[in-house]
Amino acid sequence: MPEALVASRSLPLNDLSEDERSFRQVVREFARERVRPLVSEMDDEARIPRELIDACFELGIMGIEIPERHQGAGATFFMSILVVEELARVDASVAVLVDVQNTLVNNLLLRWGNEEQQARYFPKLASKWVGAYALSEAGSGSDAFALACRAEDRGDHFELTGRKLWITNAAEAELFIVMANADPNQGYRGITSFLVERSFPGFAVGKKEDKLGIRASSTCELILEGCRVPKQNVLGQVGKGYKIAIETLNEGRIGIGAQMVGVAQGAFEHALKYAQERRQFGKPIAEFQAIQFLFAELATQIEAARLLTYNAARLRDTGAPFVKEAAMAKLFASRAAEDVTSKAVEIYGGYGFTREYPVEKYFRDQKVGQIYEGTTNMQLAVIAKQLLGKL
Ligand SMILES: Cc1cc2nc3c(=O)[nH]c(=O)nc-3n(C[C@H](O)[C@H](O)[C@H](O)COP(=O)(O)OP(=O)(O)OC[C@H]3O[C@@H](n4cnc5c(N)ncnc54)[C@H](O)[C@@H]3O)c2cc1C
Repeated sequence: MPEALVASRSLPLNDLSEDERSFRQVVREFARERVRPLVSEMDDEARIPRELIDACFELGIMGIEIPERHQGAGATFFMSILVVEELARVDASVAVLVDVQNTLVNNLLLRWGNEEQQARYFPKLASKWVGAYALSEAGSGSDAFALACRAEDRGDHFELTGRKLWITNAAEAELFIVMANADPNQGYRGITSFLVERSFPGFAVGKKEDKLGIRASSTCELILEGCRVPKQNVLGQVGKGYKIAIETLNEGRIGIGAQMVGVAQGAFEHALKYAQERRQFGKPIAEFQAIQFLFAELATQIEAARLLTYNAARLRDTGAPFVKEAAMAKLFASRAAEDVTSKAVEIYGGYGFTREYPVEKYFRDQKVGQIYEGTTNMQLAVIAKQLLGKL
């Protein structure tokens, strides 16, 4: 190849560096050896055993972007994406636990926390504390800025009152990033982000949801009754919580894209193997062209979803604009996961419809990809606003 062409050649999106490849391999083995044996039990019992969470900390995947000086891995956002994808190939619940920790909680503290807050919380988040991100409420989901949780200034501290709903990791978390309005007269410009510890007076974790999918991932209500939060636990500035929430979710949804790529890939691999074993009409069903073409279609969808997701993550790491690309990645990957997992159930025939085989769980687990961190319609709204130059 001529030298100029070599120099100008951009690398393929899924061409991983040596570090990325070996990190992915380590996580792949962890998922196979430590997570896979527990998948069915975790789904039945709707919980992730503490020992497995501890193993995630020991592996260093709970503090991927946390700087080494704060005991983290000091790696990139893209690494988090690889980790979430690999875990979701095996179990979407463990994947979202790690995803929320890295792409929402740690990321938020990295971008908006001051030196003192980082020094106080990062070593814990890298070694033993699970984190959670609390924006949604019963009355405000897509319309997140209509949140009703209030924060009253009491001199040296704030008092938070209200309820949060749907909070991932809440059963296990020690640290919650809670959005509350400190000045409702200012509308959304009163929204403020707080670092709330589980042990703060007036804070409680409420009912745990009984869900269709990602059953092992805890999703709970938070109850704040005059919860006392010291002023030094305000993240960024008072009144800037709306900006913090929205910018964090822009990044977080790349993580959901990765989760959906992993879910689709996991279901696909099971179906591909099964189709080569299952015999009908005297031969493996994989020998029928209709089945082969179906696999070709599904593999293409997964590849496209992966490339959109990697592209958004790489853009984010280089500091380039990525909001539209992140929304596209989540939109497309969650649709691909729905289609791939549904077709995987069909490839298994009647067996696919039972809990004895793995694909029905992938089918249940994918559905949330079109709901959390912004529904499909919200992703379309973000993309459209970007196209029309309204953001
Ligand atoms: C398992 C799970 C885990 C979650 N984890 C967290 C978490 O950790 N932290 C957190 O803060 N939240 C979390 N959520 C909440 C999640 O982000 C919300 O459920 C989501 O934003 C949608 O809000 P909603 O459920 O109130 O639906 P709604 O906003 O009521 O939406 C209902 C339907 O109306 C559509 N819709 C709404 N407004 C419009 C519009 N303007 N135009 C077109 N269509 C519209 C939506 O697309 C959707 O189809 C979680 C949810 C689930 C299910």
